[in-house]
Amino acid sequence: MNVSANPDAADFPETGKSRVNPERLYILWKLATRHYPNDATRVAAILAEACRALDLDLALVGEVAGDLYRVRHVCDAAERFAEGMEMALAATPCQNVVDRRATVFQPDLAADPALSGLSVVSRLNLQTYVGTPILIDGRLWGVLSFAGVTAHRASLKQEDLAFIELVASWIGLLQKQAMQNARLERLALTDEMTGLPNRRAAEARLREEISRARRHGQTFVLGLVDLDHFKLINDRYGHRVGDETLASFARVFVDHLRKEDWVARWGGEEFLVCLHTADVAQAEAVFERLRATLQHEAFDTSVGAIHLTLSVGLGQFDLEKGTQDTLLANLDSNLYEAKSRGRDRIVSSKHGLGMLQMASLLKAAASEDRILAAYQPIVDLSRREIVADEALARLQTPTGEVLAAASFIDAAEGLNLMADIDSIVAALTMGRCAQNLAAGRLSPCFSHFINLSPQFLARRDLVEKLLERAQGYCQSCGVEMGPVKPIVFEITERQAIMNLDTLEQDLKYLLDFGFRLALDDFGSGYSSFLYLSRLPISFLKIEGWMIQNIQHNNKALNLIRSLVDFSRNQGIITIAEGVEDEDTARRLQDVGVDWAQGYHFGYPELLRASVSG
Ligand code: GH3
Ligand code: MG
Ligand code: MG
Repeated sequence: MNVSANPDAADFPETGKSRVNPERLYILWKLATRHYPNDATRVAAILAEACRALDLDLALVGEVAGDLYRVRHVCDAAERFAEGMEMALAATPCQNVVDRRATVFQPDLAADPALSGLSVVSRLNLQTYVGTPILIDGRLWGVLSFAGVTAHRASLKQEDLAFIELVASWIGLLQKQAMQNARLERLALTDEMTGLPNRRAAEARLREEISRARRHGQTFVLGLVDLDHFKLINDRYGHRVGDETLASFARVFVDHLRKEDWVARWGGEEFLVCLHTADVAQAEAVFERLRATLQHEAFDTSVGAIHLTLSVGLGQFDLEKGTQDTLLANLDSNLYEAKSRGRDRIVSSKHGLGMLQMASLLKAAASEDRILAAYQPIVDLSRREIVADEALARLQTPTGEVLAAASFIDAAEGLNLMADIDSIVAALTMGRCAQNLAAGRLSPCFSHFINLSPQFLARRDLVEKLLERAQGYCQSCGVEMGPVKPIVFEITERQAIMNLDTLEQDLKYLLDFGFRLALDDFGSGYSSFLYLSRLPISFLKIEGWMIQNIQHNNKALNLIRSLVDFSRNQGIITIAEGVEDEDTARRLQDVGVDWAQGYHFGYPELLRASVSG
């Protein structure tokens, strides 16, 4: 298509120097400075005014994107064109404007065989065309086009063309501003280090997801990912390497997601992921794949390969009752659970109750006498006689179901409710002990083992209350008791966070009263021997895994043998936990273990009684 070949075609490279009619200038200025709700309405008003002033029927602002002319603004009363419409650039008269980077005027399209054949021209019966480039920072961004259908302009004055170019430059400025704003907005919503959406963006997206889910009745799954022990990477290699690792992680993460799903940097080394699936198991699989990848692949950093693990809290949006807050709280508690269960794992509410539900269940149970105690017998191995029992916490749900400790201990610890549970179980057990002694059912030699958490020991008020209760029970049971009382408190060092000095101090009041101490789960933690050497331990409870190993592991049996020797020397009674068969019981008896408990001797049995006082 050759514009110059058409004798009627004219282009006006010099029009920029022409003057615009002051009246038009004034109108344009008013349009440019008036308040409009947005740029689109402003541009629409400018185009309408330009059409009126030029006596042409339609105007388009189109972006030139490669080979396409993409319509961004339209003024066309007959609705021949619409915003968003795309045309092949070569199929429009705009191609000339792009080729020449100058204003092109075609007074009579029909007279130009190259243009009259274009479908847009013939189909819409376009008569006159005038187009001018829209430049942004000197680069061609798009074309401002006018066309006449009914109005047939045989000529345009220099002044008209100057006006058109002025309009184009206004629109160019507005477009530039819009692009800058969009860029700023993008920056404000993007995390610079990882290139992912930042928290602000994630919150906005989450609001959209929730309203979409409600609108379409289609739920989604959200995951909160926290890198494990990330502080160690910073401490060991410095923050720069930490940053590198975070950025690499973000890339791997994105690769694991489908296009319709998204991940954002939620803060620090936490990431929020949205998966458009209603299937929690499917969501778990996505994270399991990511977890497996991290297990096998290290991140290349400037200091070499770094391995990472991650913990994930998953939650599904509850279409009926869910809110953004409850969903996030649910993720948080699941993530917390993943961390407290040892990290490098995925926890979703599907399994058992979520921490949040567990929290309200626990709180209600504590105040409604629904924390119960079950008692498991402890047997003297040589006499095969029950000589003691251990109290184990149980939780009764409002529907009467009884939950074992394993299902709520983690939650209770995380929620700081463990101390209250210990307090209740201790009170129940001491009350039962007093009743049995008073009724002559048990001798004062029969010991009752009660588990105490570090949280309980740190609560001076609860310890005092316990001592007060104990005093009351001792007086009420009517049995003359020596300095040693039948209650034994089990402490464990599994959590291994206690300061031993503090622990000794916390235990002092209980020991002074005549209670004894058992070291629970011996062999499971890091500092068993430290505890053993520092604390006045009367009983040593040997962990189930050691016991279960003695059948086919001689070393385990020998270990137990030496523990027994040591304990004998120290006047400590050894108790084997988790004994499930007679063969194991006999072997333990042979190496000199004093007492044992486990399913072989009896299951924990529930005792329903309420705490008084
Ligand atoms: P945990 O397994 O309990 O999550 O242990 P953690 O060490 O990851 O502990 P936590 O989540 O409490 O702390 C996160 C650490 O991540 C603390 C902070 O120094 C580090 N971190 C957070 N944001 C950045 C970051 O942008 N760059 C770097 N290098 N480190 C970060
Ligand atoms: Mg963190
Ligand atoms: Mg972390």
